Amino acid sequence: MGIVVQKYGGSSVADADAIKRVARRIVEAKKAGNDVVVAVSAMGDTTDDLLDKAHAVSPLPPARELDMLLTAGERISMALVAMAISDLGYSARSFTGSQAGVITDAVHGKAKIIDVTPGRIESAIAEGHIVIVAGFQGVSADTKEITTLGRGGTDTTAVALAAALRADVCEIYTDVDGVFTADPRIVPAARKLDRVTYEEMLELAASGAKVLHLRCVEYARRNDIAIHVRSSFSQLHGTIVAGSIDDSAPEEGTMEQAIIAGVAHDRSEAKITVVGVPDKVGEAARIFEVLAGVGVNIDMVVQNVSAAATGRTDITFTLPRADGQGAMAALARIQDEVGYDKLLFDDRVGKVSLIGAGMRSHPGITANFFSALASAGVNIGMISTSEIRISVIVDEGQIDDAVRAAHTAFDLDADEVEAVVYGGTGR
Ligand code: ASP
Ligand code: MG
Repeated sequence: MGIVVQKYGGSSVADADAIKRVARRIVEAKKAGNDVVVAVSAMGDTTDDLLDKAHAVSPLPPARELDMLLTAGERISMALVAMAISDLGYSARSFTGSQAGVITDAVHGKAKIIDVTPGRIESAIAEGHIVIVAGFQGVSADTKEITTLGRGGTDTTAVALAAALRADVCEIYTDVDGVFTADPRIVPAARKLDRVTYEEMLELAASGAKVLHLRCVEYARRNDIAIHVRSSFSQLHGTIVAGSIDDSAPEEGTMEQAIIAGVAHDRSEAKITVVGVPDKVGEAARIFEVLAGVGVNIDMVVQNVSAAATGRTDITFTLPRADGQGAMAALARIQDEVGYDKLLFDDRVGKVSLIGAGMRSHPGITANFFSALASAGVNIGMISTSEIRISVIVDEGQIDDAVRAAHTAFDLDADEVEAVVYGGTGR
């Protein structure tokens, strides 16, 4: 008998009816002869509502208390799912992340899982129970404090459980039928991918595709866990995330891999320009050291050629919008030391990325992408690339146009609409 790990996201457990539906689905997997372990997210927009509550009492809530508060969301859904299962005549046991043995580092709000010791889960399985685990949370080995894994972290909980339990499959149930070539909310003609490699999925997730948590894909890749992303609202086969771009490299006579896996976008970026930085050894290092010191994650960086007349240059970089104020304050503190002229902050930008393993061996992808953007009247602010990704920064108001233009230019549009968004507010 195999172990199946399933994950249900917030929109799949949004209300009592949804929870009963999920309970039936879990029981089906059990009836089919599997041992079933389930990771659940908080109901609907509970996590956002809890965050609003926190900010209503404190503009800057202590991270420890915020984690205490947010983990309550998943405790509610785990208990309700267990109750609904018991109502169907099957026995279920719910466990918090800590009880389930999800051990993390001590970083509140974005803890990393360092180990899973699933003793209690294994005993519960051995006693015949279905196991429900609160997603997105764990306990720090060092501080013994309760931690959360970052928004969307229940995906990572599920993959970590699948790895620790050596499960046969890790099914991630969500409110769309799988991983699409673009966000169906923007591109109705987006197509479902049957398979996507870990590397492509990592780039998609890192570029703003919200369907899977980035850490979850990293974890799955490291532990070689295949993920099946599918809808809890339909019985359709979803997308299998597995394999490496190197395994699927096209050989002569075999079917060629798709050139482009998809187009992702990200509305959470901001851009800072440090104007008039003296062109001397060590200035860029100083600027980015200060940013690292306040925990800012830098994405793209561009440094202009310095103007011969002044010996000064501009350095522009992108970062998460949420880190914008902290970064500006940190940079302001070193203005005299570095001797730059001024800082510019722009949070009306977005990132659009084209991702695909096939771009390694196909010339002309960049040209095609940029001319599609030009035809759509989209101006490119910054550019960055990896082996299998090309990203551009564009005006916030042009993100949707840019995504649609790229999707069409690379023949990704489906003939018939395949994408159904079953739930969720996209919040
Ligand atoms: N409930 C958390 C969130 O909304 C974790 C998750 O859904 O995976 O981010
Ligand atoms: Mg959620």
